Amino acid sequence: MTTPEILDLQQKYLMQTYSAELPLLKGQGARVWDADGKEYLDFTSGISVCNLGHCHPVVTEAIQRQAARLVHVSNLFVNEVQPQLAALIAQRSFDARVFFANSGAEANEAMIKFARRWGSPRGRHEIICMEHCFHGRTITTLAATDKPEIRQGFGPLTEGFSFVPFNDLEALDRAITENTAAVMLEAIQGEGGVRPARLDYLAGVRELCHKYEILMLLDEVQTGMGRTGELFGYQHSGVSPDAMSLAKALGNGFPIGALVVSRKWEGVLDKGSHATTFGGTPLACAAARAVFKVIEDEDLLFNVKQMGEHLKGALIQLAGKYPLIKDVRGPGLMLGFELEDGAKELVGKAAAKGLLLLTAAGNVVRVYPPLNVDKTTLDQGVGLLDQALAEL
Ligand SMILES: *Cc1c(COP(=O)(O)O)cnc(C)c1O
Repeated sequence: MTTPEILDLQQKYLMQTYSAELPLLKGQGARVWDADGKEYLDFTSGISVCNLGHCHPVVTEAIQRQAARLVHVSNLFVNEVQPQLAALIAQRSFDARVFFANSGAEANEAMIKFARRWGSPRGRHEIICMEHCFHGRTITTLAATDKPEIRQGFGPLTEGFSFVPFNDLEALDRAITENTAAVMLEAIQGEGGVRPARLDYLAGVRELCHKYEILMLLDEVQTGMGRTGELFGYQHSGVSPDAMSLAKALGNGFPIGALVVSRKWEGVLDKGSHATTFGGTPLACAAARAVFKVIEDEDLLFNVKQMGEHLKGALIQLAGKYPLIKDVRGPGLMLGFELEDGAKELVGKAAAKGLLLLTAAGNVVRVYPPLNVDKTTLDQGVGLLDQALAEL
């Protein structure tokens, strides 16, 4: 199909909730191709989902092999892949049990249900979230999300969420009451504009949660699976949460999410308390199991640290050349830069030159190449970005 044919169908039959205009038909590694065969460097990784690059051969083969063996049996039966994946996650995070879901919002819903269940016998049901956070688009995860423009017209939302300034420990301390069950936050706010939690802040949150005997919940949906240079974002800080949620890169594009709960609270979501039809199918778990294998076999965390430093250095150089860039931030390959103005325009100009980037929170541009990217590819992308900036 040609681009106009695809867009015509899209405009006639799809709910017009998105404003996408570029059909992409094929991907390999850090590259994607449109309907006219034009090549793009993809520094969006499908919003930090295809972290191993597009169609990584090990993941593709795992999906193909499992698709021919067993796709789905429901959670009325045990499948052999799900426990293996749960073990991989638990062994590489904190001593934990895992519940599988299908998306980030669903994993966060499960995490919120876990906190409510935990708080119920203690008379605690409120969850404190951070200003500018993002946790999903269901009615409850939207209630936990501080983005008034996407909440508008969907009320009444789920009760029991409040917001405090991010990285402000005193404000959090003041906000905790006898009704508070949990504090929920991202190690680095992605949609909020690549805003990292200070490491001493995460440690401070952990301490406050201990002091008041409440839960620390981490949304690792965007920070998880290596993007920051550690497997999980919290691992830079030396403290671990009571629970975390995963999704996005867990299956490298195959939909899968997970709630990971400390073994200390393993009885809270007991038999019958939560369920989903599709969660943790053999097929989804086989994709995610292959993702763990690739991250380890290819020593990707090391590459993220090295390439992250290289890319951040190049972005800081561009900031020196273009005063329009106010700030460059983020660890590993979870990088963003803030503009005075014109982030959308810049992303459009870069795409026209063959470089795909993401915006966030107004005037932040996110640069999320795949984790196995090399220097040559990064330099090529930075060159295109330089050209796009020159036109602003
Ligand atoms: C993307 C994202 C979500 C929502 O995930 P979906 O799979 O889109 O529901 C939740 N939290 C964070 C931090 C995210 O980046």
